[in-house]
Amino acid sequence: MSKAAPAPAGGAATLGQRPPRLVLRVILFSALTLGIGAATLLVFIRHFERGRAEHAATLHASIVAQAVVDRLQPEDLRAPLSVDRQDELERLFVARVLDKETLASAVAAPDGRIVFATAVEQIGTRLSSRDLLAEALRGRVTSEMVSAEVGGTPRRVLRAYAPFRLADGSSGVLVVDKDYAPIASAARRAAITVATVLELVLLSLWLCLFPIMRSVTRRMNRQLDTIAHQALHDDLTGLANRTQFATRLDEALTSESREAVALAVFFIDLERFKEVNDALGHDCGNELLTVVAKRLDDALGTRELVARLGGDEFGVLSERAVTEEAALALAEELRAAITQPCEIAGVSLEVQGSIGIALSPAHGTSRDELLRRADIAMYAAKRLGAPQVFSPGLDDNSPLRLAMTGELRRAIERSELVIHYQPQVDLHRGVVRGAEALVRWRHPTRGFLGPDAFLAAAEQGGLMRNLTRYVLEASLVQLRMWRNAGLELDLAVNVSGRDLADARFPEEVAQALAEHGVDPSWLELEITESVLLSDRVRASRMLERLVDEGVRIAIDDFGVGYSSLGQLKNLPAHVLKIDRSFVSSMESDRSDEAIVNSTIELAHRLGLKVIAEGVEAPEHLSRLRAAGCDIGQGHLLGRPLPGHDVVPAATKLRVTWEAEEDGGADVVPLRRAVG
Ligand code: C2E
Ligand code: MG
Ligand code: MG
Repeated sequence: MSKAAPAPAGGAATLGQRPPRLVLRVILFSALTLGIGAATLLVFIRHFERGRAEHAATLHASIVAQAVVDRLQPEDLRAPLSVDRQDELERLFVARVLDKETLASAVAAPDGRIVFATAVEQIGTRLSSRDLLAEALRGRVTSEMVSAEVGGTPRRVLRAYAPFRLADGSSGVLVVDKDYAPIASAARRAAITVATVLELVLLSLWLCLFPIMRSVTRRMNRQLDTIAHQALHDDLTGLANRTQFATRLDEALTSESREAVALAVFFIDLERFKEVNDALGHDCGNELLTVVAKRLDDALGTRELVARLGGDEFGVLSERAVTEEAALALAEELRAAITQPCEIAGVSLEVQGSIGIALSPAHGTSRDELLRRADIAMYAAKRLGAPQVFSPGLDDNSPLRLAMTGELRRAIERSELVIHYQPQVDLHRGVVRGAEALVRWRHPTRGFLGPDAFLAAAEQGGLMRNLTRYVLEASLVQLRMWRNAGLELDLAVNVSGRDLADARFPEEVAQALAEHGVDPSWLELEITESVLLSDRVRASRMLERLVDEGVRIAIDDFGVGYSSLGQLKNLPAHVLKIDRSFVSSMESDRSDEAIVNSTIELAHRLGLKVIAEGVEAPEHLSRLRAAGCDIGQGHLLGRPLPGHDVVPAATKLRVTWEAEEDGGADVVPLRRAVG
């Protein structure tokens, strides 16, 4: 697959196909017609010219007859001629009739008897053609083609019968044999001359028409190209349009070369585009769309198609990023490309894009299904502030989601949700300083579910507040148990945007803390960067109230959103959690390492502690420690565990950094320490 306006294949090819090669067709067709016409003309002219030559020869015979008839006598037609008379006539005929082309001549009586002939052996015989004789006697000069031996060689001969009448009223017929070869060649010459002239006229006409035809065809081709291009492309941005997107998606889905067609459909919607349009005018809005279109196009490869689906909506079809992880990574790239500030009409703008993804075959194998689901995921992405891959939980209308919401409500009521705790290790001291509460659902039929599988359903089903209350309650009970056991652990609990939108939330927290006898300073509330940014004023007011209660605030998943530390500096936060996507690629991507290092440095300057998420490898740990990171969390240091497992883990874990110097692992991983 190729991007933007590629040489289309298949169905798009039908639309984008080059128009038929008109010039070539016209050339071939007119040349063929001209050829057939010329051949017909030649045959016709030859026929005509031969008729003319024959007529001329016949006419010549009758003139010759006139030249000898005054010397014939009535007796010549009645009785056999005397030798003297024959000699006389012989001389007469040789002098007046015979020439190069007139081979022989004879005089026939009305009964067809030949009374005189220049070929003596014919004298006394009868004319073979009685019909022509009768016609000649009626006064018409006639002729026929015969074969005759002349000088021992067979020749084609034109035999003319010319009637004559003598002074006494008796009549006869003069027979003249003319050599046909000169007649035929004269006819052929004339025919060729006429045909050549005519053909030349036609050819020059054709040559005059040819450049005109060619330029007309070229113009038509160009117009067809333009029409085909317009039919498949967006006028403003030059990207593929909705029609091409749909066609290419259909083609990709029905391609026979693969068994299960793996592809991803991305739906991208620009945030606050309408505001730009309203504030700066349509021209600026258009300019912004063009800039975004170009960035998307540049960010994609040859196996992707990007299209403008209308308004501020774009679509991407990828045959490369077909797994959930790859698609999300690509979505992040696209989001980063869109978010780059751009200057329009002297104003520096920063637009954001919400990206929804549907994968084939997991989320559908038909175009409509995939587009609808990518659209649903896109709306979820708007709500959650990060690209989303479709899941049934996101679909408001899906029976599965409705069922899940009901089940989840019951699960919360019946305390069927489980909390696991992921240790957070102090990287300066090498001890477990606390744990993050992460919710799980032991589903009766679907097994052990992680939060990704049901949080969206909770969000949309209005259960988020109940869920947070549940997690807070359960984890405070756990924290109290740890503290009772003498473990000086702190607890981190994730909080959603819904919680921050509820004015009663700070009181609820205070109440829960008091109820379980937990010191507020042991609790850290984690709020994702995107939630904080969606309504900064209200979020900041709410955080202040929470801070007043004495709890700490952590900014979760920092880096995946589009905020800068500058934007967050006025928020009353204590901790910054660097998203695991940066940490995990630290060793392979120098720019990610630079981001992590400078984030740590900046956060420290702003008085924030830094937690690195996703510490999976010893390499991560040594780099993070070198950068001065305060706390680490990740599979290397400990996976999320049931609460009672954290107790032995936290007590037994003795992180020793000495191994680092030996080039070995930096730390005894928690699980090993537990074991
Ligand atoms: P989070 O708050 O960023 O939590 C950290 C997530 O990263 C957890 O996923 C954890 O299991 C995972 N993780 C930790 N270390 C590593 C590592 O080394 N490598 C990798 N690949 N992953 C690691 P989990 O438990 O699936 O939670 C996902 C998200 O769901 C959480 O991200 C949080 O935003 C949300 N969540 C979890 N529990 C709750 C809750 O009780 N309430 C709310 N509102 N959100 C929750
Ligand atoms: Mg968290
Ligand atoms: Mg996080």
